[in-house]
Amino acid sequence: MKSLTQYLTFDTREKIELVRITNDVAEVVKNSGVKDGMVLVNPMHITSAVIVNDNEEGLHRDYIRVLEKLVPYDDAYEHNKDEDNGAAHIWRQLMAHQVVLPITEGKLDLGPWEQVFYCEFDGKRRKKVLIKVIGE
Ligand code: ZN
Repeated sequence: MKSLTQYLTFDTREKIELVRITNDVAEVVKNSGVKDGMVLVNPMHITSAVIVNDNEEGLHRDYIRVLEKLVPYDDAYEHNKDEDNGAAHIWRQLMAHQVVLPITEGKLDLGPWEQVFYCEFDGKRRKKVLIKVIGE
């Protein structure tokens, strides 16, 4: 079995934003030499998530609008004693926080419209994403 672990680091510009990382994940898969396997993509922050969906800005705004409706960002959370990110922790969980993706014939095996996004819910800081490839 082969494996490769790499970390993607970047600075998010907004408090809330979606950053497309499909090409970064595909590059790690390519570098791993794995032909058949899986890749785990984990955001490594408790106020962010990694998801797979369409690269369409309207949909991304819809996500935020629905999250805001379910869990308003500025509500009074018990967690918000020294910080203001109580909602961001909950949003991350609602977005299911991490993904495992298939690798077939040495490539990320996504559907035609599937793209990988890092979802920032408490940004304007340096962020780190774990990409772990395993397979043969
Ligand atoms: Zn917090």
